Amino acid sequence: MEKPSVQIVMAFTINKTRDIPYGIYANWYTKPKTKHPTIYISILIIELLVIPMPTDKTELTIITESGRCSWARCIFCSFSKKPDLPEPDFNRLKHQLDARLTKTYHTLKYLNSGSFLDKNQIPEDFQKYLIQKCIDLDIKQLIIESRPDHITPQNLKILKDANKNNRLKIYFALGLETSDNSILKKICKGFTTKDYQNAASLLKKQGFYIRTYLMANLPYTKDIQSSLDDSVEFAQKHSDTIAIINTYPYGYAPLFNLWLKKTWRPLNKSEFNTLVKKHRADKKIDIYYDDYISYPRFKDQTPLIGATKENLENPIYDLWQDYIVRFYEKPEIKKYALFLPCAYRKPYSYSKTHKEITRRLKSLSAYANLHHLMISNPGIIPREFETKYPFAHYDWPEWEETPEIKKQYLKTTQDRIENYLKSHRYEKLFAYFKPDSESYTALKNACKKQNLPLISCLDKNTYKDFKDNPKSPLTERRLLDALIKTLRKNTN
Ligand code: SF4
Repeated sequence: MEKPSVQIVMAFTINKTRDIPYGIYANWYTKPKTKHPTIYISILIIELLVIPMPTDKTELTIITESGRCSWARCIFCSFSKKPDLPEPDFNRLKHQLDARLTKTYHTLKYLNSGSFLDKNQIPEDFQKYLIQKCIDLDIKQLIIESRPDHITPQNLKILKDANKNNRLKIYFALGLETSDNSILKKICKGFTTKDYQNAASLLKKQGFYIRTYLMANLPYTKDIQSSLDDSVEFAQKHSDTIAIINTYPYGYAPLFNLWLKKTWRPLNKSEFNTLVKKHRADKKIDIYYDDYISYPRFKDQTPLIGATKENLENPIYDLWQDYIVRFYEKPEIKKYALFLPCAYRKPYSYSKTHKEITRRLKSLSAYANLHHLMISNPGIIPREFETKYPFAHYDWPEWEETPEIKKQYLKTTQDRIENYLKSHRYEKLFAYFKPDSESYTALKNACKKQNLPLISCLDKNTYKDFKDNPKSPLTERRLLDALIKTLRKNTN
């Protein structure tokens, strides 16, 4: 008789569907003994789980509008200041929730820009409905938000009664923002750290959980690092979890004016990452750079007309250039920059010159890879922003230019182009300008200073034949032919 032998087979698989958290588990099973003397003792299957299980980490965020925040004055908040907010209505909220929440998630974040406990925002019957629905769907955690003044024993009783057996962990998101009372006052938060502490201790006593929101880089802060660190230390004493978010002004929030006045500015990704670095390792803390950062919006859309210093270094243009340099991410597909002049007609693409240039560019196989970047007195204007204020609402009459303003235009524009090129990289840079234009000179100087080769697509010899044309020479067929030829030769 043969000696029994042992075979262990190790199989590694990636399991994306089993309801088991991160980690490794082993599953032993034994094959039935066969007539053959060899006993297959076991096959060891090790399933290496590299992906979090859907029911463990899944999270759904619902952001709803319902009534107005009872405070509505925080300077960074635009949601509460919207003109037409829908009335709180059980049926509408129920319909919205049922449409979004159709399956089980581990966590539901239900945010209503204000206070869930404020019945002028969320009717009592909907508060109960939401909790019951979470229980029915076996959702483990619900995160709702509230200002401290709505956190009262009476208001909490409604939730406690609806969540009788504590099957649902209810977290209150408390927007503390900072532990510095003087800053809370300046950002018009409308409560103090004492109010927050009282609300937090009542929530704890009643069996609720606390998630404190802090804002990094708030205005009026002397030392943003120590202010954030102190706030984290303070919040740790009262919170189950903490969220740190990057301060950014949305819509028409008053904070936007501080950016415009250059007394405060938001942090870009790398500045923010440096600021929050020491808190990253803390498992209790979630950090959000902010996925909702968007381009600047201006309520007042007065046209900016005139070749003046004010219209060259207008704070609105400076803010836009700051956004374009530090926050804007160019589309990945745009690997070639094509610098173009502005046009009198706005948006530029409605002008005859841009229409004609674009019509010809479309014949190129690399058309989609070309990033149109206009140079004008507002700075660099990527094509995708040409319809936004003020790019479609300004005029710089060249005949008003003085030698002094021309000199200033050259310097300011060169600086702006340099800043743009430092933060946005392209495989190749092309230009299609009249050779004697100030914008082209500024571009050439900027590229030279940055040591970046610039390919001019304008045929200087042909240009001589058309330079005195009353209509734009840039739309002349022979010049456009040369533009296309140069681009075709240098792109793939
Ligand atoms: S409490 Fe919240 S919703 Fe109300 S104004 Fe302040 S940030 Fe906006």
